[in-house]
Amino acid sequence: MKRRDFIKTTAGALATAYIPFSGAANIPAEVSCMSRTGNIVTLKRSEVADFAKSLQRKLLLKSTPHYHQERTLWNGLSDDKLPALIAQCIDSDDVINAVNFARSHDLLVTVRGGGHGISGKAVENDTLLIDLSKMSNLSADPTTMTAVGEPGVLLRELDRGTQAHGMVVPAGVVSHTGISGLTLGGGIGINMRKMGLTIDNLLSVQIVTADGKLRTASDTENTDLFWAVRGGGGNFGIVTSYTYRMHKLDPQILSGVVVYAMDDAKDMYNRYFDYSLEAPRELNMSAAMSMSPTGTPFLMAGFQYMGSPKEGEKVLKSYRTLGNPVADLIKPKSFLRQQTLLDAGNPHGTNYYIRGRTMDEYDSDLIDVMMDRWNHSPGRHNTMRLIRFGGAVDDVAPDATAWPHRGAKWDLELGGSWVDPALTAKNIKWGKDYWDALAPYVSNRFYINEMMDETQEEVAVSYGHNYPRLVQIKNKYDPKNFFQSNGNIKPTV
Ligand SMILES: Cc1cc2nc3c(=O)[nH]c(=O)nc-3n(C[C@H](O)[C@H](O)[C@H](O)COP(=O)(O)OP(=O)(O)OC[C@H]3O[C@@H](n4cnc5c(N)ncnc54)[C@H](O)[C@@H]3O)c2cc1C
Repeated sequence: MKRRDFIKTTAGALATAYIPFSGAANIPAEVSCMSRTGNIVTLKRSEVADFAKSLQRKLLLKSTPHYHQERTLWNGLSDDKLPALIAQCIDSDDVINAVNFARSHDLLVTVRGGGHGISGKAVENDTLLIDLSKMSNLSADPTTMTAVGEPGVLLRELDRGTQAHGMVVPAGVVSHTGISGLTLGGGIGINMRKMGLTIDNLLSVQIVTADGKLRTASDTENTDLFWAVRGGGGNFGIVTSYTYRMHKLDPQILSGVVVYAMDDAKDMYNRYFDYSLEAPRELNMSAAMSMSPTGTPFLMAGFQYMGSPKEGEKVLKSYRTLGNPVADLIKPKSFLRQQTLLDAGNPHGTNYYIRGRTMDEYDSDLIDVMMDRWNHSPGRHNTMRLIRFGGAVDDVAPDATAWPHRGAKWDLELGGSWVDPALTAKNIKWGKDYWDALAPYVSNRFYINEMMDETQEEVAVSYGHNYPRLVQIKNKYDPKNFFQSNGNIKPTV
């Protein structure tokens, strides 16, 4: 018996041992699911039981123990969503079986990688959730300078696995975010100005398309698909493996924030917009507003220098003294530490309403509008951060990948979070009104991984010049819109 078959057989035996309804005893006579077109599909017990047997791990129903803990996402706004079935996959074969089962019954599917999507489209009511979170193998090879990750890998695992060799794959911040959705949407982070987006360092993917076939997409195979998955989100299939290029990165970087009083907001932001245009590509420069637990607001300029800390000290000299800082918290620290600094402020299960828009120009009236609506409301925590694109992000041609924001100067992300569900309606209204007021000062484009509740038309506008090609490729690989719970590229066939 081959090793892989042995592992599968053993995994299968273990899975059977702990699938509580193996033998179909605990499956109801009928299970209702939502179809791809919004109708109700009724699955028979025997059909569900056969599907459960085809998976090496677990199929969960609403009545299965642990169902509720296995369906949750990062954004608590999704807490009330109840999928009909959760197929926990451990490899491409499981994913193929789940896709084929869904297609043969015309079920609406959702796909979960790390579960961090802001809009919570990875879980919907009465669907088949294809859950990849248990596929979390990562390997990093310093000789070839490549890393291979499965879709359940989180950023902290990617960072630790690559830094063990003094290397890095440029990706995001907040270490409990999944690499999977992050990569498919583009992947922005503190390394991007020096090393490019995550997709600019993606060498190939293994992907199960809507017809149930496992394909490789790279610069030499299925090149159209490879173009589309680099920014087009989860529209084209289920990625079961990502191969990345690694870059060298020493473990210590110079990073931190300079804190300002709110009275200095306009001055500070004016300087930020000017200086961030001039910053060298080693320097990641952000501006942020936040508030203490009691609602006291404060401003920060954030800096991460992706080179030697000694060199960074020289470069940062002029930036860290901009305006009238009240505290300077910049110091050398480990890259791994830097990557976790925002974790605690972004806990799982809290309710979040956050949107983003790119910016091509700066009008200082934006700051007045932003400050005017930055009012404290008990129980809500406001957040805002501005980052500069540019550098290596713009080394790639606007039509070389599906990511549509090459050349955009900044990205603004703003919103609020709260725990008490009684505040949900009020806080969502606050967030929507806020963005209506900001609209004249930002573009009508957004990074797809910052999508909240935007419409399909807004998604189409946001992809701009790359949208027609995305539709063509969607028509070829997913003409029936099997993968539609995402920032959807609508097929036209
Ligand atoms: C606190 C926080 C910090 C963040 N920081 C950053 C950052 O620094 N940089 C950045 O670029 N983004 C950042 N993001 C956005 C992040 O990229 C997205 O939330 C991304 O969707 C997370 O991926 P995931 O696999 O965890 O999410 P999931 O919720 O599991 O997936 C999101 C969507 O991606 C699709 N998808 C996921 N996996 C697959 C797959 N294998 N095959 C096909 N489709 C799939 C599905 O459509 C799914 O609905 C942040 C988000 C949060 C909430």
